[in-house]
Amino acid sequence: MSILITGGAGYIGSHTCAELLNSGEDIVALDNFSNSSPDVIRRVKEISGRDFPLYAVDMLHEQGLRRVFEREDIEAVIHFAGYKAVGESVRMPLEYYNNNVAGSLTLFGVMRDYGCKKLVFSSSATVYGHSKEAPFREDTPLSAINPYGATKLMIEDILRDLYTSAPEWRISLLRYFNPIGAHPSGELGEEPSGIPNNLFPYISRVAQGKLERLYVFGDDYETPDGTCVRDYIHVCDLAEGHLAALRHIRGNTGAEAVNLGTGNGYSVFEALRAFENASGLTIPYEVTVRRQGDSAVMYADTTKAKALLGWSASRGLDEMCRDQWKYAGRNGDRL
Ligand code: NAD
Ligand code: UDP
Repeated sequence: MSILITGGAGYIGSHTCAELLNSGEDIVALDNFSNSSPDVIRRVKEISGRDFPLYAVDMLHEQGLRRVFEREDIEAVIHFAGYKAVGESVRMPLEYYNNNVAGSLTLFGVMRDYGCKKLVFSSSATVYGHSKEAPFREDTPLSAINPYGATKLMIEDILRDLYTSAPEWRISLLRYFNPIGAHPSGELGEEPSGIPNNLFPYISRVAQGKLERLYVFGDDYETPDGTCVRDYIHVCDLAEGHLAALRHIRGNTGAEAVNLGTGNGYSVFEALRAFENASGLTIPYEVTVRRQGDSAVMYADTTKAKALLGWSASRGLDEMCRDQWKYAGRNGDRL
């Protein structure tokens, strides 16, 4: 039997494909390439030395999904496919609700029809909304502060309701903190189109000389150096977390939310210095006004991930920056 990876050509999906293949799992990838390219799948195959079926299918297309379940023997789904840009979600809420929520509903309905009731879902720490209680535990009150966050919260609610209605489902809701870094081979990484919104992709572009300087969004927060604190996690640790979640749901029914973070918070200035050390470059920056909607401090309580999944992140910020720069340095033309 195989694990279906929706959004398998994306940033986190591609690393998870590689991790599963290396651990001996059989996989099937599905993507509509709205934010990725088929070449990523070629590179996953090259790195792992293994072949697997790829379906160029939009998850909103129910018949396309049914074709995958007809042809393949799918044991479980790891569901990454979706749109993820916060600012874009504010400008295009209908597209976000349609792709993320309606697309997920289509997928879950097809899974049910084919008796596939094991699911690992990409949620996000954004579901903690405006809560100021860092470190965030899974029982921290949830709220949405933008349409993207609302889609994650809605899908979590849908999945909790689904489990209540049919307790044979085995569902893991993984709340990622800030994934960064790249595969140590330098072959897989994040490829944002246009000007990046997130800190590390932006720093990478400055390092490549494609953007002039980093704008630090506020240095007047109540944090040690005044800049916001985040829990950055290496994308390979995150991929390993998905394998741990898959193994967990094989043995347990439920619909459990689990944080995937390191439990350590770093400020924007600390992140910048770590990248400078890893790359040997000086990154020009300018402090500017706060970005609307940013929380001062966000980092994970990782107790549940350790207890339930037996997983914890092992890679530190220096390794994240090294791999981030290896990918950005090597793939300058692609970014
Ligand atoms: P990504 O954009 O790199 O990957 C998503 C993939 O899904 C892309 O390859 C895209 O082409 C595909 N896709 C989108 N809509 C689709 C559809 N309708 N049908 C088929 N494929 C579709 O994003 P990522 O960073 O790898 O994120 C993966 C998941 O993790 C997303 O659900 C995202 O919301 C969630 N997440 C990401 C972060 C982050 O910082 N990267 C943080 C928390 C949660
Ligand atoms: N940030 C910044 N300049 C940028 C992008 C981000 O100063 O160009 C800051 C941002 O204010 C936040 C941190 O870096 O404090 C992480 O931002 P990112 O968008 O990567 O993640 P998120 O806000 O989703 O946690």
